Amino acid sequence: MPTPELRCPTCAAELERFWSFCSNCGRRLEWRDATKETGAECYYCRWVVSDSFSYCPWCGRDIRDRDSSPEPLKAPKGFKYQRRCRWGCGGGVMYPMRSCPWCGRPQQWRYRDRFQNVCPHCNRGVDDWMEVCPWCGEDATGRDLIHQALRRVRQRLVVARIKAWNYRVLLRPGVSGVTHRTPKVIEIERRYVTGKRRRDEISWNMLTGLILHELGHSYLYHHWSFTLTGRFRRAFGEVRKAYRVADSKWVDFERRGVTTTLPNFVTAYAATHPQEDFAETFRFYVARRGRLRELFAEFGRKRKGVPVFEKFLVLHDFIRSLRGWK
Ligand SMILES: [Zn+2]
Ligand SMILES: [Zn+2]
Ligand SMILES: [Zn+2]
Ligand SMILES: [Zn+2]
Repeated sequence: MPTPELRCPTCAAELERFWSFCSNCGRRLEWRDATKETGAECYYCRWVVSDSFSYCPWCGRDIRDRDSSPEPLKAPKGFKYQRRCRWGCGGGVMYPMRSCPWCGRPQQWRYRDRFQNVCPHCNRGVDDWMEVCPWCGEDATGRDLIHQALRRVRQRLVVARIKAWNYRVLLRPGVSGVTHRTPKVIEIERRYVTGKRRRDEISWNMLTGLILHELGHSYLYHHWSFTLTGRFRRAFGEVRKAYRVADSKWVDFERRGVTTTLPNFVTAYAATHPQEDFAETFRFYVARRGRLRELFAEFGRKRKGVPVFEKFLVLHDFIRSLRGWK
């Protein structure tokens, strides 16, 4: 039987059955036995259960009574068998049950097959477009955890007069980066925030720098035709090699100063690839609020070559041209 289209009663966004929260507005959901399929609801959480269950698979509480099956079953009426309980009690469980209805022990599911990524709060599956985690009800993007850095980034972009381009920052496991396929999605490695590293002043600076660097990639993908212009190509070179940035050199992003070793690049990391060169130029430009005179004075002191000045001028003029300035 095909599932009828499910929509949130508050905001009408699409839902999947047995989500705990609407992923759009965050409304708490309740999945009752509306169609009288099983004739039973959990006494505690009111979600649909079977009379034969010993535990509520949704809230995990003990609901055993005289109708409960003495033996674990595969799938009582109203429920599908998808696999056996991971603890070996012999009973069957159905996605996305949180607990085994027979032995009450917690169940895990392979969310990676069904979702684009995982929630930074509960590690269950979420998609990139989701605002609220359908499982734990927290911010599915993780932006709440890097609020300070994001606010600083937004302020800097405004001061540098860069028009917003609807980028979306997501805190995810793995690496930080942006791919050409989804140029507005900026993934930030969550280890920097939820890992052992303390969230002190230095790491907020590092995070702000890392986000600005990744925004540089996103900005360039968003304005890809800019890379076709002769002036861009002369300044930055050929950017058309498809690749994903590996941020093993993330420590670089904590540096606020300009390196003195490579005269033709703003930082050592910028020398690794033309796209990194642009992203580092972007990061410095925005972090220094677009104040070229100050930057150029510093470049002079650090004996930067003419190519570095030109890179910043190319970016500066491009930003101004988008705003219709002369
Ligand atoms: Zn909703
Ligand atoms: Zn329950
Ligand atoms: Zn079990
Ligand atoms: Zn969650």
